[in-house]
Amino acid sequence: MPWTNYHSHSHYCDGVHAPERYVAEAIEREFCAWGFSSHAPVPFACKWTMPEDRLDEYLNEVSDLKRTYEERIQLYAGLEVDFVPGITGPARLRALAPSLDYLIGSVHFVDAFADGTPWEIDGRHELFLEGLHQIFGGNIEQAIERYYALITEMVETDAPDVVGHLDKIIIQNEGGALFTGKEAWYQAAVRRTLGIIKEKDLIVEVNTRGMYKGLIKEPYPAQWMLREMAAMQIPITLSSDAHHPREINGAFPETAQMLREAGFHDLHILYDGVWQAFPFDRWGVRVGTPVHS
Ligand SMILES: [Zn+2]
Ligand SMILES: [Zn+2]
Repeated sequence: MPWTNYHSHSHYCDGVHAPERYVAEAIEREFCAWGFSSHAPVPFACKWTMPEDRLDEYLNEVSDLKRTYEERIQLYAGLEVDFVPGITGPARLRALAPSLDYLIGSVHFVDAFADGTPWEIDGRHELFLEGLHQIFGGNIEQAIERYYALITEMVETDAPDVVGHLDKIIIQNEGGALFTGKEAWYQAAVRRTLGIIKEKDLIVEVNTRGMYKGLIKEPYPAQWMLREMAAMQIPITLSSDAHHPREINGAFPETAQMLREAGFHDLHILYDGVWQAFPFDRWGVRVGTPVHS
């Protein structure tokens, strides 16, 4: 059975290789659909986002690839958009590029240092600790609650199609050095956010990058959250967040197994131009058998 993936980065941002290399690999591995989601341009200095003056070239290239490969695979043009209140978010990118097929909304920045530089929460650990101390006085509870408050604000005020790598901030908590994950404030922040996502009926991606990079043993979001999401019937899509063609379905079989164990029976995929649910197992998605829920 085929896989799909809508979270991928190419040489337009911090990924390796041209978009066409990913398409070739996806066809080789019998994917039925593929989405490009370069890091959207941001109106401040950032090394890993697409420069704004390359946006048209990106959209044109994906649209050419769609035509070239239309007999073999469905291709979609998306972006992974940062949400920084008052500065950038899904609505800004939809206005800049109305032809986009979908947007993944991710929070990589939480507030800013005193000089105005946004604090990146999934980069280098030293930078994380610096921001934690300067902006939040070292209080991890406040920092994580602020992270979840931003996700909630994005979902409520500037919603993307897909919520990107929920809980990725735990990448900074190796070995439980900053918090145990069992704290009531943490679980409350997660549950509050899931409740609002459910209310707005957004799709949450299950992102495997930390697993195939050997950083963590569970996807973002982790197994306990997946169980809650399954019970709440929050729709999910499975994403690899590939930055290299070899990563296009990294850790998919084992993650699909975890998703089944958490109680999920279907994945949402962008297929024939609409997000729709299909059954899945550890070998792929059973396209052509829509789930009516
Ligand atoms: Zn991201
Ligand atoms: Zn990404």
